[in-house]
Amino acid sequence: MRIGIIGAGQLGQMLGFAARELGHECVFLDPSDTPPAAKAGPVVQAPFDDPVALSSLAEQVDVLTYEFENVPVEALRDLGDPTPIYPPLDALRLAQDRLDEKQLFERLNIPLPRYHAVDSPDDLHAACDAIGLPLVVKTRRLGYDGKGQFVLRDRAQIDEAWDAIGGVPLIAEQFVHFDYEVSAIGVRNFDGEIAAYCLTHNEHAGGILRVSRAPVDNDALTARANSYLTRLLEHLEYVGVLALELFVAGDNLLANEFAPRVHNSGHWTIEGADTSQFANHIRAVTGASPGPTCTTGHAGMVNLIGTVPDASREAIKGMARGTLHDYGKSPRPGRKLGHLTVVAQTAAERNAQTSALLETVNESR
Ligand code: AMP
Repeated sequence: MRIGIIGAGQLGQMLGFAARELGHECVFLDPSDTPPAAKAGPVVQAPFDDPVALSSLAEQVDVLTYEFENVPVEALRDLGDPTPIYPPLDALRLAQDRLDEKQLFERLNIPLPRYHAVDSPDDLHAACDAIGLPLVVKTRRLGYDGKGQFVLRDRAQIDEAWDAIGGVPLIAEQFVHFDYEVSAIGVRNFDGEIAAYCLTHNEHAGGILRVSRAPVDNDALTARANSYLTRLLEHLEYVGVLALELFVAGDNLLANEFAPRVHNSGHWTIEGADTSQFANHIRAVTGASPGPTCTTGHAGMVNLIGTVPDASREAIKGMARGTLHDYGKSPRPGRKLGHLTVVAQTAAERNAQTSALLETVNESR
């Protein structure tokens, strides 16, 4: 099949490589000059909301999908082209607005942090009254990797918070003193077949994912997270891969957000699972059954942000099942340039390797 992918970043690149292995071809749409996915297929260079470019992409492919969340839903709805778009646009629309997303979690009985919609500094005062401090204040739309967020620790910071990110609809959330963060990643196809990966443990710094480790050795927690994931996949009549990010705080498992796409915390599945999240997304959007999601060992993934240090290249070479993924992007502070994956026989070995890799990354800062 021919698959049109909106966005040609590293997720598009990895989707494209997976599609090629499955015998499909990809065409991408992206405004950048030299996007990573150019290695995986032709790129139509145009803005994401360019109606002419979107229509011409839709005409040349059998199915459309996307690799990032801020795809303009209206531009896609207006296409009027019969080419199917997966994941469904309703899922994308809900994920684009943190208030809609939280209301969806509530409707599906998925526990979440307390929150308050905020449209003015007065609303921030009301949120402090209702929830207490500290609060994490976030823009409702267009936030990613911790951008568009302000941690409000004192009411005296309300004007500062409003000046920093206000003027647009916001949401204030209870600051969760979590023990750790996890993501539940799964896939559903048009026929309703679902497969979920094991739970992934994630560490962020400055709002950006740094390290993922899988599997999380807790069957009860995994079952609970995957039941929330399944509720979402079924309710949304979802097609493709979806990632649900959650906080673990004592006995509580609280949903933070979901991504209607392949996810950075699932990159370990390329080497660490029988079928990668990228292959499973392609399988789902092309009508195939999900491939097995069993793990092939204990996997660790370290993101390379801002630089691909020589020390990391050397260290990964010395690890038996170690792989460097270099997206071929030009270095810039805070930019995800690649990732390292290790797969080990035991969790202890995986943790040692992941820590050693992290050291090579931190030393180069
Ligand atoms: P988000 O953009 O919502 O995924 O937030 C990025 C990161 O900020 C999360 O992965 C957490 O590490 C942190 N964070 C977000 N919301 C909260 C919260 N309500 N309480 C504590 N930490 C949070």
